[in-house]
Amino acid sequence: MKNDLDLFRSIADSLFQAEEKEPVLKPIDPKKLFSELDLSLSESGSNEEDFEKALSELVLNTPRTASRKFFNQLFGGRNSKATLGELLAVLLNNSMYTYKVAGPMVGVEKEILHRSAELLGYPAQADGTFAPGGSMTNFMAMLMARDKAQEKARTEGLSGKLCMYTSKESHYSIPKNAAFMGIGRNQVRYVASDEKGAMDVNALTETIKEDKAAGHHPFMVIGTAGTTVMGAFDPMGEIAAIAEENDLWFHVDGAYCGSVIFSEKYKHLIAGAELADSFSYNAHKMLGTPLSCSLILVREKKYLYDSFANDADYLYQTDGDDYNLGKTSLQCGRRNDALKFWTLWKSVGSKGLGEMVDRQFELAQYALDYVEKHPDYTVYSYPNSLGICFNYKDIAADALCNSLYDQGELMIGFGKFNDDEFVRLVTVNAGNTEEDIDAFFSVLENFAAKM
Ligand SMILES: *Cc1c(COP(=O)(O)O)cnc(C)c1O
Repeated sequence: MKNDLDLFRSIADSLFQAEEKEPVLKPIDPKKLFSELDLSLSESGSNEEDFEKALSELVLNTPRTASRKFFNQLFGGRNSKATLGELLAVLLNNSMYTYKVAGPMVGVEKEILHRSAELLGYPAQADGTFAPGGSMTNFMAMLMARDKAQEKARTEGLSGKLCMYTSKESHYSIPKNAAFMGIGRNQVRYVASDEKGAMDVNALTETIKEDKAAGHHPFMVIGTAGTTVMGAFDPMGEIAAIAEENDLWFHVDGAYCGSVIFSEKYKHLIAGAELADSFSYNAHKMLGTPLSCSLILVREKKYLYDSFANDADYLYQTDGDDYNLGKTSLQCGRRNDALKFWTLWKSVGSKGLGEMVDRQFELAQYALDYVEKHPDYTVYSYPNSLGICFNYKDIAADALCNSLYDQGELMIGFGKFNDDEFVRLVTVNAGNTEEDIDAFFSVLENFAAKM
């Protein structure tokens, strides 16, 4: 192991230097991938020298998501304390299903879940778990909602048509999950959004009424805390009231921006989320832990057990349900996604996490001010969103973003809202500074001048 750790250290050092010198790589043409890099696997193993060379080249040719010029998705940067936790989790290689094999890591997971529930404003009997991504935490919420609406769904299968509500700006995992869970994609109703991209609650009420009149069975509504493109926040308090009135399970998809629970300043954006039946957020987005670190909190832990507990004599042999986390998870063997979040939280405290959140909103406001002040930009965003959406001059967003990628200048993506397509700058890397935002615009403008 020692030699491989030395090799790790040496490749990591090369990577850090490379990220500074060349934050964005020109992509390898996928047609030439196998000729440019040694990815081949064969009958006999390679000698150490070839192995090290192939591995280093592979790492150094992989897109640099931790660099200062990566704005392409809703994650980025590299938090050192979180990375340390992740590396140790890999070294320990526990599985989180039982206390017998996970030991104190069970406590690490529970501490994170309980402190998160407290910050959200959930009662003491709340609980939760970790799942492999925000799509899967949404899936878990949808399954609990289904099982609550139809107690026999787990044993007999579904009866009748269940229908659910979410905004047209919500995440694509929702229709996918609807297919997985047997209610069908067509039973997802996409409620209209207002001009900022937040759910129009009057349209929600209307749609529920129409469904009830048509004899359908509404069972769930999902509000989004940070829509994927516009970064908008649905009005959680109003959705909670409608959910209560219509006996719907209310889930908050906070995969992107649910981490505002850590910020005194921005928590108000999700006011009312504490009334939801379940709430999910991704620490690998705003809080900068390595992928993936996704949590779901459930107001009443009974529903977690109802939907996910299954007896298994060969597995659960000691310590009781509260410490055998497999009783409430989607998976069987489950990696330790909690430790990387714990090392980060332990070192900076809830206050430090709140400062990371605040910092991202400050950077977003800085970028928004810039595009609003410069007449060459058309702006589509509003304050309090981490996605700054704009077009530059009359250049099509897709052409601009794709050329910037092809030429190895910037990693930036485009999005769509209503009939507009635009560049979407995401300020989700709390390690970035105002200078990095300035540099972003300067690269983009210089590049556009040459286009
Ligand atoms: C990113 C995102 C998801 C999906 O999370 P993954 O961890 O990528 O599966 C779900 N909902 C919203 C609003 C998101 O932004």
